[in-house]
Amino acid sequence: MSKYWSELTASLVPYVPGEQPKDKRYIKLNTNESPYPPSPAVIAAIKSAANEDLRLYPDPTCEKLRQALAKYYGLTSDHIFVGNGSDEILAFAFPAFFSPEKPILFPDVTYTFYPVYTKLYGLTYETIPVDEQFNIEAEQYRRPNGGIVIPNPNAPTTRYLPVDDLRVILEANPDHVVIVDEAYVDFGGESAVSCIPEFPNILVVQTLSKSRSLAGLRVGMAMGHPDLIEGLNRIKNSFNSYTLDRLAIAGAVAAIEDQDYFMETTRKIMATRDRTIEILQPLGFQIVPSKANFIFISHPRQSAQSLFSELKVRGILVRYFNQPRIDQYLRVSIGTDEEMDYFVSVLREILG
Ligand code: PMP
Repeated sequence: MSKYWSELTASLVPYVPGEQPKDKRYIKLNTNESPYPPSPAVIAAIKSAANEDLRLYPDPTCEKLRQALAKYYGLTSDHIFVGNGSDEILAFAFPAFFSPEKPILFPDVTYTFYPVYTKLYGLTYETIPVDEQFNIEAEQYRRPNGGIVIPNPNAPTTRYLPVDDLRVILEANPDHVVIVDEAYVDFGGESAVSCIPEFPNILVVQTLSKSRSLAGLRVGMAMGHPDLIEGLNRIKNSFNSYTLDRLAIAGAVAAIEDQDYFMETTRKIMATRDRTIEILQPLGFQIVPSKANFIFISHPRQSAQSLFSELKVRGILVRYFNQPRIDQYLRVSIGTDEEMDYFVSVLREILG
């Protein structure tokens, strides 16, 4: 590589995803996937789409999926954009909506992809501190900015900001796009999609990866004013005129339409989460109230790093962040009841 290019790429610090080790079979509580399979209707739809039509390009506008999502959210399809996971949508949204002149605001403890995209597109950012309990304070977002990202619930802290507080941020920033990243909103939070008719500056980003058990299909969606959707389309079409493949479109439509299965799996995950929290508290764990499919926990007597290692040796993967403010915490995805019972029994053994 030429010196110019190697220096340029070396200055990029990519996002580091949760590990996917292959050395043995782990109980995987480290990447917030669903412990349950996708709806049988999704598998059937993908199988039936695996036919000779695969020789044809897919619909570049994904109209059928956008119609299904529009019906689900009570919007029209010109309010909907879909992409290969919400990460891809965020990757399009940053250059589409954020101004290089002023910093993008997001919380100091949050999803580490936000600074990665900022750097990639030559933008700047300013982090806004969350309070001691990791709450996002809406009033702090009244300052000059070039755009705002609010993850809700936040990752990895699980903290949820009520929609009324989001309205404070939207009202204070009418000239800037506020992205609300709702990757985990289906586990007890209320979506800010209801703000769309009132605020042309909100873009709500969601995903099928978590609550619809489809991390492997890579489907995300964004909802907002048609002008924002048009902005996303312009960026997308500058890279690739086709969005999702035929199998992903078929599977995603089936997932959105199978409301009963979605309700059942999210209800089970929330019940397991709340039960796990009740068992962990008497063991001395401090646990941030969670409206996500994961919990954020710390123990006063054990370093998070050593807990992480001891769990891994015993076949359980969780997420440890070697970062300021959160290096005493572990992020633990909610598995099945059996997996969480095993997790708790191993923790009991480690704690003695
Ligand atoms: N936003 C947040 C806050 C996340 O934690 C994740 C998952 N790592 C994503 C977006 C991206 O999810 P996906 O690309 O699978 O839709």
